[in-house]
Amino acid sequence: MTGSGGRPLVLVIEDDLRYVRQLRADLAVGDFRAVFAGTGARGLDEAVTERPDVVLLDLGLPDLDALVALRRLRESCDAPVIAMTAREDDEGIARALEAGADDYLPKPFDQDQLLARLRSVLWGAPAGAWPPFESDGLSIDFAAAEVAVAGRPVGLSASEFRLLRFLARNRDRVFTPAQLVEEVWGSEYAGDRHLVRVYVGRVREKIEQDPNTPRYLVTKPGIGYMLRKYG
Ligand code: CA
Repeated sequence: MTGSGGRPLVLVIEDDLRYVRQLRADLAVGDFRAVFAGTGARGLDEAVTERPDVVLLDLGLPDLDALVALRRLRESCDAPVIAMTAREDDEGIARALEAGADDYLPKPFDQDQLLARLRSVLWGAPAGAWPPFESDGLSIDFAAAEVAVAGRPVGLSASEFRLLRFLARNRDRVFTPAQLVEEVWGSEYAGDRHLVRVYVGRVREKIEQDPNTPRYLVTKPGIGYMLRKYG
């Protein structure tokens, strides 16, 4: 996909030096090449000249409205765009996705989350690439399709596991019921949103200490569901 030894090139458009430092280190660990731009204008230039394989775009840039930047990126380069913004900025996230971002990364993020998002948009995330998920007592071994709570194995049906696996791979990210149907069951089930409610309930019965006040598989009111990663 890229000329330089197969290592994908990431264009990072970000003005916050803390994130620039973190991303520089994390991207090196993930074996990505990286180009950094501290302003939107510079980032748009780099998108044309460097022809990145993927763009990480901060939604709070000093010189350019994020949605304008996103639209211009869309016009000038084919690379998928991952929008970065504060975890609480649901509205910003929704607008970025509507404006054409392929995915988003809530700040702050850790190295696993960053690399998982990049692999997901670049390669559709091959199964073998996923390290086990651990969140304060909940553990998921993707390769073995095994789930345990506080060390005790939990038996999930195939659909229950697929739902949990999808949410775990996209931890701390909220999905609408329609998105979950599409991702977990496929487009032939589109519109069948009660599926999600039923299966979220079943998974909660199995993994939550109190299914009525879930800690892991939480509801974001008015939006949908997400799996929380603790620690
Ligand atoms: Ca910023």
